[in-house]
Formats: sequence, C-alpha cells, structure tokens
Amino acid sequence: MPKFIAVVLVLLGSAGNISMAATPPHQLHWQHEFSAAEQLKLEQWLAFSSQATLNTLGPYPFEMQLYLYRRAGKEPVPWANTWREHSQQVHFYVAPQFSKQQFIADWTAYHEIAHLALPYLGRKNAWFAEGFASYMQYRIMQQAGLIDSATKEINAKFTPQRKHYLHQLSMVETAAQLLSQRRFAAGYWGGAQFFVVAERLLLQQGKAPLNLQIQRYQQCCRLQDTNLQQVIQSLDSVSDSKIFSQLLQQFNQLPAAQFLQLYQL
Ligand SMILES: [Zn+2]
Repeated sequence: MPKFIAVVLVLLGSAGNISMAATPPHQLHWQHEFSAAEQLKLEQWLAFSSQATLNTLGPYPFEMQLYLYRRAGKEPVPWANTWREHSQQVHFYVAPQFSKQQFIADWTAYHEIAHLALPYLGRKNAWFAEGFASYMQYRIMQQAGLIDSATKEINAKFTPQRKHYLHQLSMVETAAQLLSQRRFAAGYWGGAQFFVVAERLLLQQGKAPLNLQIQRYQQCCRLQDTNLQQVIQSLDSVSDSKIFSQLLQQFNQLPAAQFLQLYQL
C-alpha cells in the first residue's frame, strides 16, 4: 500500500472553528490503512491539536510532518514520539475506535507537538525537553478550553513525585537519574518544575509569560540553536533577562531538596 500524503488546509474542530494560516502547518503521512471515516476523524484531531499548540507556542518556522500508524490500545494514542533527522516529525500510534472528542481530550498530541518548539537537545538533556513538553501540554489545553487550570494539573502530577527530589543531588541529576531508570513520570514532572519556576520569575519581573517568550524564540532562534546552552542564551535574550541561565545554574547546582524549599514547590 503506497503511502499517501494529505495536506490539511482547513479544518472545523469541534471545540470551535479554526482557520489555518496561509502556510499549512503540517503534512499527514498515512503509514497504515485507515478507512475514510477514520482518516477524516484523525485529520480533524491533528488539525485541531496542531493549531491549538501553535496558538500557544507558534507559529513554527517549519512545516511539521505527522505520521499515523494503527495500534491496538486502551487509550486513543498508546504511543507517540518525535524524530528530527531530516524534518520535524511526530509519529502517532493510534487506536482509531476512540471518538474525535476522546482524541482531542488526550494530552499526547499537545505534548509531542510542543516538543518541536525546541531543537533536539540530546539524551543528556531529556529532562529539559520532557519537562518543557509536559509543562506546555497543559498550558496548551487550558488555552484551548479543554481544562480549567494548567497549574492545578501540573501540581497534581508533581505532588506524588516530589518525594524523589528530597535529597542532596541536584534537580538535573535527580531527573536524569529517574529517566535512566525509566521512571518517566517522576523525571518528566521534576523537569517541568524548571518551567513552573521560570514562569513565576517572568511574572515577578514584569515580563511576558513563558509561552510568549517561546513564540518570540520561534522567530529569532529556533532554526539556529542546536544545544541547550544556546537555547538558554536565546531565552534570556528574548526575555531580556537572566532568568533562564540563572535558573539552570540553580537546577544544576542546588541540592534538589533545597531548590524545592527555595521556591516552595
Ligand atoms: Zn515527550
């Protein structure tokens, strides 16, 4: 079965009509066979979720490549991941028996598409990439009207993981260690605390919120940066502050328990 590529130009999301920008933000790649009705539902879901993500973080200075695979599962998207080799790709493994509303209510697409707002930063910095996507998935869902409070959701995710961070290793060392042990929720939501604090410091210093800094970042720097140091420098620059570099230093150097206490997390 040859692949075919559908370019989604316009879409009517059920949480409101959304008109797309002139450049289509993504191309779809059907890797398995899907019925016409399944294709329509999945196209509408991905058009909604990519537009919701770009409303918060974008537009992105590239076209996204979204791949769809069929997979049995007890949730709409049992697995998804990003690839960055030749283009900016997200691969979605989907269980098409779920309704469009169930797909739209699922956090996975917002998380994966949020990843593309930053360049690939290497395995060593997975805590940063996953912390970012985990933090942003709920910001995006709040702005799209799908949840009431991102802050509440993020706190609820971190609370059961907090105990892993009450020691002398730094936040970075702890999150990286948890990820290497495949304790993903613990690593992700610890990493997300970097962005919780960055958001708070931006507000305290009278700066625009984090998602607007990320929007500025897309325009100046997204296609130039290739490592975490550069991303941090660019975020300091777009926010006209030292928030990100100073916070990274604390995340690297303070004992995690002390960091949590300092910011009352
Ligand atoms: Zn992720």
